[in-house]
Amino acid sequence: MVGYEMLAENQRDIAPKQAANILRNLDFVRYISALCHATEYSILHSRNMHNDPWVRAKKELEKIAKRLSLPPLLLARLSHPDRMISVSLPMQMDDGSVKTFSGLRVQHNNILGPYKGGIRYHPQVSIEEVQALAFWMSMKCAVVDIPFGGGKGGITVNPKHLSERELQTLSRLFIHRLGAAIGPTIDVPAPDVNTNPKIMAWMADEYGKNLKAQNSKRKSQISESEMRAVITGKPLDEGGSQGRTEATGLGGSYVLLATLKKLQKNPKGMTVAVQGFGNVGYYIAHFLAKAGMKVVAVSDSKEGIYVPEGLDPETTLKCKREKGFLSGCYCVGSVCDVNKGKKITNEELLTLPVDVLIPAALENVINGENAQKVKAKIILEMANGPVTDEADTLLQKRNILCIPDILANSGGVCVSYFEWYQNMQRKKWTKEEVFDKLFQHMQKATHEVLAMQKKYSLSMRDSAYALALTRIQHHWKKYA
Ligand code: NAD
Repeated sequence: MVGYEMLAENQRDIAPKQAANILRNLDFVRYISALCHATEYSILHSRNMHNDPWVRAKKELEKIAKRLSLPPLLLARLSHPDRMISVSLPMQMDDGSVKTFSGLRVQHNNILGPYKGGIRYHPQVSIEEVQALAFWMSMKCAVVDIPFGGGKGGITVNPKHLSERELQTLSRLFIHRLGAAIGPTIDVPAPDVNTNPKIMAWMADEYGKNLKAQNSKRKSQISESEMRAVITGKPLDEGGSQGRTEATGLGGSYVLLATLKKLQKNPKGMTVAVQGFGNVGYYIAHFLAKAGMKVVAVSDSKEGIYVPEGLDPETTLKCKREKGFLSGCYCVGSVCDVNKGKKITNEELLTLPVDVLIPAALENVINGENAQKVKAKIILEMANGPVTDEADTLLQKRNILCIPDILANSGGVCVSYFEWYQNMQRKKWTKEEVFDKLFQHMQKATHEVLAMQKKYSLSMRDSAYALALTRIQHHWKKYA
């Protein structure tokens, strides 16, 4: 069962509880809103306007809104997040010193359902980035047809500099500060860059503790299982879903294979380069290699490796884990076995002569400076916002097909929705069931985007936005 069938079933079940929750939490929400208005403008603009992801996101929204003649009231709603929450996180470090970190949660809109989106830990987390990511989540949930709106969060921190105790304290404090602004029917966070199932489990536990403390004064309305639905991407034994870890990479592979099929291209033997070898980068490499494509290059923040004969993603991951470097199996120090592979920089990876280029790390990596040098004929955007506006125009002129992030990487949020649904309904699906439902959602979304492209003669990116905005408008008209 997929899409609106699930939506209808869920909404019947959760609507009264949602209303009760909102009323119960109204005072706290007002407090949080006031707090965020006071602090949101004090956050420094850390990026130049040209590549500011939020400026780009709004430009895309305005362009497609005009094309679809979107009602001005809806455009106004989507042009600004519903709410931006900024929290201060002072904590005692292991050495006894005190450090204050900043946390953000942006709730873009909840027209289709509760706000939904990951929490990122990175030293460069900024309000512009989080706003854009929250907006993209709104678009992504609509493209893949799940009943969620868009949200995103982050803490400005390098988690690699924290001990496990410090990481846990910071994660719990963040959830404590967000308080009633999140909840299974209000806003449902998930993992993103540098956060993982373990962190999600701490967060879900903290939410449960806070709620139980409140409920000791009031009668509880919410079950243990529903309480866990506050966060997705949890470990399996703590209410997580089968297949969530693989979901974004697997979903991306379904999108690419469905697009190649429509283009009547045989994927077997096509060459692929993947930038970023974390959760998303590893799994997309793994599933495309399984589908017969030849993964010739991967990279992480330290270095890249180019193996023209094709590399095995599993072996490369094993080497990285054992030796600390991606090139561990191919090179000793700076000396590499030239028959096998060659160390490359991230910049070199982007301009390799491959059929498919997959940015799966951070945003803005394909930009005005390197777009002309890209040799791939297809770019599959697994990271959020990896292609700048300027680069997008240059790539279109060169007939390079960009499969947009809001479609390509929506497999993650799709299985997050499955996790939420299983928690809310007290169900447990097998991995096969999850993968099958994911396949149906991703294939349907890809076909719908390609149909939009045919109907309006738009780029694939614009078509994905057109699909998302059409779906949001339909729901907005019905329920506004
Ligand atoms: P991750 O932390 O697991 O991996 C990130 C990878 O990028 C690591 O290999 C890291 O070394 C590499 N990296 C970091 N900085 C880099 C740089 N400057 N150049 C090259 N590589 C660099 O994160 P992830 O979950 O794999 O997410 C990757 C991207 O996918 C992000 O843009 C994220 O927003 C997006 N995304 C993730 C999910 C998900 O379910 N995890 C879902 C949708 C979108």
